[in-house]
Amino acid sequence: MKDSNSATLPLVTIVLFLSLSWRATSDSSSQVDKFLQCLANSSALMLESIYTPSNSSFESALQAYIRNHRFLTPETPKPVAIVAPTHVSHVQATVVCAKDNGVQIKVRSGGHDYEGLSYRSNVTFVILDMFTLRSIDVDVDNEVAFVQAGATIGELYYKIANESKDHAYPAGVCLSLGTGGHFNSGGYGNMMRKYGLSVDNILDAQVVGADGNILDQASMGEDLFWAIRGGGGASFAVIVS
Ligand SMILES: Cc1cc2nc3c(=O)[nH]c(=O)nc-3n(C[C@H](O)[C@H](O)[C@H](O)COP(=O)(O)OP(=O)(O)OC[C@H]3O[C@@H](n4cnc5c(N)ncnc54)[C@H](O)[C@@H]3O)c2cc1C
Repeated sequence: MKDSNSATLPLVTIVLFLSLSWRATSDSSSQVDKFLQCLANSSALMLESIYTPSNSSFESALQAYIRNHRFLTPETPKPVAIVAPTHVSHVQATVVCAKDNGVQIKVRSGGHDYEGLSYRSNVTFVILDMFTLRSIDVDVDNEVAFVQAGATIGELYYKIANESKDHAYPAGVCLSLGTGGHFNSGGYGNMMRKYGLSVDNILDAQVVGADGNILDQASMGEDLFWAIRGGGGASFAVIVS
């Protein structure tokens, strides 16, 4: 006689699996709702900076900085939202709300990461898309430039060249690299032999740390300032400028 348990066991397993995956889905959707609510509570203005999958601009915003077209596929995991901050307080709110609700942050500047680390993940994630923070101010007299992370190195070269025929900044050769990710990873280019890497010429940085605080070179301390100049993107803080 056939053992009735042998037929029941797979059924129980399937029911258990379905109920666990339903539980996981509903847990993650409430996690996302809480995250979005937290952002909305932090500032009404922030709502204009958030794209969710129900927004008609979501796909174009997502794809705009996917530079490795290998990841332009339906199988590539999508974020639950894209936050395009227009003020440093939006970066702070994203960091705090994501941390409080267990949502991973992927920071994206130029989107040139070879493995798409700035826009894909296997866990619930949000893209903090820095393209909206891209101002550049060049102070020729003091030989410094103030650059926000969403600016590309091409924009930086262009701005400097408009201000001075005698100045430049040592960085990479691909003009659409984001300064946010490029300066995080070192930055070698045509001027390297004489002037070193991009990171050798960085005097200060404004970052948002894991607890949402804004830090500069003095307040972040020597170790963090060293780490963000070559230690690898998104490992230590969100670089704002
Ligand atoms: C076509 C091509 C040409 C290249 N040429 C050069 C070159 O000439 N010289 C050279 O040195 N390198 C070069 N690189 C490498 C490039 O510098 C790195 O891949 C760099 O990290 C890209 O920065 P991004 O902002 O464009 O990329 P993103 O994909 O946006 O970011 C890269 C990494 O940095 C993190 N990150 C991005 N912005 C921030 C931020 N604001 N705060 C914290 N973390 C952040 C991301 O999460 C990700 O982990 C090249 C890469 C490509 C694809």
